[in-house]
Amino acid sequence: MAKYDVLVIGAGPGGYACAIRAAQLGLKAGCVEGRPKLGGTCLNVGCIPSKALLHATAMYHEAESNFRKMGLSTGKLAFDWAKVLSYKDQAIKENTAGIEYLFKKNGVDWIKGWGRLAGPGQVEVDGETHEAGSIVIASGSEPAGLEGIEIDEKSVVTSTGALALKSVPGRLAVIGAGVIGLELGSVFARFGTKVVFLEYLDSIAAGMDREMAVAFQRLLKRQGMEFVLGAEVRSLERSGDGLTAAYRKRGGEDELRETADVVLVATGRRPVTEGLGLEEAGVETDPRGFVVNAAGGRTTAQGIYVIGDATAGPMLAHKAEDEGIAVAETLAGRAGHVNYDVIPSVVYTHPEASWVGRTEEELKSAGAAYKASRFPFKGNGRAKATFASDGMVKILADEKTDRILGCHILGPSAGELIHEIAVAMEFGAAAEDVARTCHAHPTYSEAVREAALACGDGPIHA
Ligand code: NAD
Repeated sequence: MAKYDVLVIGAGPGGYACAIRAAQLGLKAGCVEGRPKLGGTCLNVGCIPSKALLHATAMYHEAESNFRKMGLSTGKLAFDWAKVLSYKDQAIKENTAGIEYLFKKNGVDWIKGWGRLAGPGQVEVDGETHEAGSIVIASGSEPAGLEGIEIDEKSVVTSTGALALKSVPGRLAVIGAGVIGLELGSVFARFGTKVVFLEYLDSIAAGMDREMAVAFQRLLKRQGMEFVLGAEVRSLERSGDGLTAAYRKRGGEDELRETADVVLVATGRRPVTEGLGLEEAGVETDPRGFVVNAAGGRTTAQGIYVIGDATAGPMLAHKAEDEGIAVAETLAGRAGHVNYDVIPSVVYTHPEASWVGRTEEELKSAGAAYKASRFPFKGNGRAKATFASDGMVKILADEKTDRILGCHILGPSAGELIHEIAVAMEFGAAAEDVARTCHAHPTYSEAVREAALACGDGPIHA
């Protein structure tokens, strides 16, 4: 029986970061993981493989759309799906091996198997009991699916099956136009799949600033993707080789149908908290299975903590990572802290979409006195030279103090640009602080500065 200061259950981005930081701060740390590779959903069947497929298809799309305009020719453009999948698998392999290396480097023990709370300060893994001063639940989440729809991960798939389809489908119906649906829908649309989204809400990318979501949808539509909004999918039937999804438009009586070769069910994720012995250990969960977070990652049981998708908040790898580091710091006697007001979101489509802080709708409903500025990428020299002038930067700032309250970006490298504003917000910056910071020319970042200028005396290039 091994004895640890900290034992983390789950080696996703939250769990592995927690274990590594705990070890770096001098604690004896172990991490229990039953998958054959470390990294959890993110590295094995989530963020990393989807980004590899998005990268490959974005390159293909770029060659198809813009090479000729720049005087470049490639002969007949083609793809080999099996090789694209091998490239994706290689990206997974390198990333998961990287975590194994980091565990060894930092002296974190990987306890292989599925863990279960077995008594105060005890975790059982495959019949063996390990002792720990503190236990961290980092068990993550899994696709929620849809009641009545059977997933076979072959033709009716979640993100996991979509990342490993044997061939590129002719027609793909995506149930749910959230982040997963939009990213994976984009992958296949770029390889010629006819993609149709059936989305329950009135706009895509729930949680995104409404104005940006409308602009985002317009740009995706221009790439050939179709959207049916206000559509509640109720059932799915197999008909010969194909699939038929039956849905109703909100407020409507008629049952409408959409046929497809493959259906991607991307209707959200649910926490993985069953079978961990939580109830017996006194760890309270809410009716949806999320572990109740009694502040700072503490649960209702002494010495047991929770981080990431298994508890409240956005299901994002970087939120989990920050929580993991904060809990490790707390356990090492430091002041672990997560600023939930400054957690960026990114959708890795083309163009990328990103945001941090408040949306305009949130500010309106809070009755906040704010100002909104916008700068289109059409006014950005680098974007114009690289066929990337779709989209804009929008900054929301306090009407009186000019303090930045939120930022929304749709455009080239939006997932990178957003961090300038995230840092600014961490420092409580005003839009003028960003506006008065010299930005290199020509960069996409200048569009962020111009949006900040637009909060004051106005932009130069619009
Ligand atoms: P989501 O919650 O983002 O979107 C699900 C969508 O499905 C919603 O818009 C919802 O209205 C719709 N829906 C639900 N039931 C429906 C029905 N019966 N008919 C039609 N539409 C229906 O969930 P997701 O896209 O599955 O992603 C899950 C989680 O993973 C999210 O929290 C997301 O943030 C995270 N994630 C993040 C990234 C990223 O940061 N780039 C990538 C992938 C996943």
